[in-house]
Amino acid sequence: MSLLNKSSVLLIYTGGTIGMKEDPRDQALRPFDFSGILSEVPELSMFACKIDSYTFDPLIDSSDVEPQLWQQLAELIRDRYDDYDGFVILHGTDTMAYSASALSFMLNGLAKPVIFTGSQLPIGRARTDGKENLISSVEIACAKTPDGQAMVPEVCVFFDSMLLRGNRCTKANSTAFHAFVSPNYPALAEAGINIRYNQRLIHYPANPDWDLRIDTALDTRVAILKVHPGITEQITRHVLCDPQIRACILETYGSGNAISRPWFVDIVRESAASGKILLNVSQCLSGEVDMTLYATGMALKNAGVLSGYDITTESALGKLFHLMGIEPDNERVKSLLEKNLRGEISK
Ligand code: ASP
Repeated sequence: MSLLNKSSVLLIYTGGTIGMKEDPRDQALRPFDFSGILSEVPELSMFACKIDSYTFDPLIDSSDVEPQLWQQLAELIRDRYDDYDGFVILHGTDTMAYSASALSFMLNGLAKPVIFTGSQLPIGRARTDGKENLISSVEIACAKTPDGQAMVPEVCVFFDSMLLRGNRCTKANSTAFHAFVSPNYPALAEAGINIRYNQRLIHYPANPDWDLRIDTALDTRVAILKVHPGITEQITRHVLCDPQIRACILETYGSGNAISRPWFVDIVRESAASGKILLNVSQCLSGEVDMTLYATGMALKNAGVLSGYDITTESALGKLFHLMGIEPDNERVKSLLEKNLRGEISK
């Protein structure tokens, strides 16, 4: 491959375990300077790929991620969009699924890969999973179809040899290398001896030459209420009828069931009648919400609760922030909420 058609990737480091290295002075883990990434991971120079890096300042543990970081990421990708074939975002694992979900809604007309990755062990540790995650993510960010388009023009998470759609995955294990799962949508690719892409599962833009448009407006007035045995009337009312919130994700049991006692259904009805957007998301990892199956689910449907189908909580949050950010009318948000916008629901 000549230098002229060499691929290029922008490596964006936001923080998290992956970019840490033991400081020989005191053995403490500290973030290393990403401008020296090729000397840390020399394997990267084996690709016919130009790699530039951008480091956020300050670097953060992803537990401190705020929507402002998503706005900065979206703006950075837009500003550098024409200069690179793909983007790899190094991010802490704790909130990676939230960030990948949010970005998937904020980036409109995406025709290039945006791959989130991280690791359970710092890249400077002997048994690190960070190197493999990083190297494969860069390879995926450079990959092209035979007609020269990006192989995976989506926001994804790559972890432990699996490429998952960003708004479908969730962190399911805090210690194993296999930290992320995508229970309701198959992996877009799997890295073994070769990287095998499931092209029929990947979304391709109708026109790869469309311009990227970003929506950075986010409205965060969303609460999440996890239904549980023993939840009190007072707490339920406090959350669902709080004048500060515009929407609430109701994390329900099984196929979308909640408490059938009149006080609970009355509060839900009152909240929905006041115009709030109520979205039913199951506490189960796999399967989907179907409020018509049981009387307890039917009561929620009749009270005005919308179905989240098989969406993850992370994705529901990003979708609500995004739709409420661009749409002042709650009725319009509701109609968009039940639509499949970025492959986040099977509908
Ligand atoms: N707490 C860290 C973070 O999410 C863990 C990690 O990087 O995996 O930033």
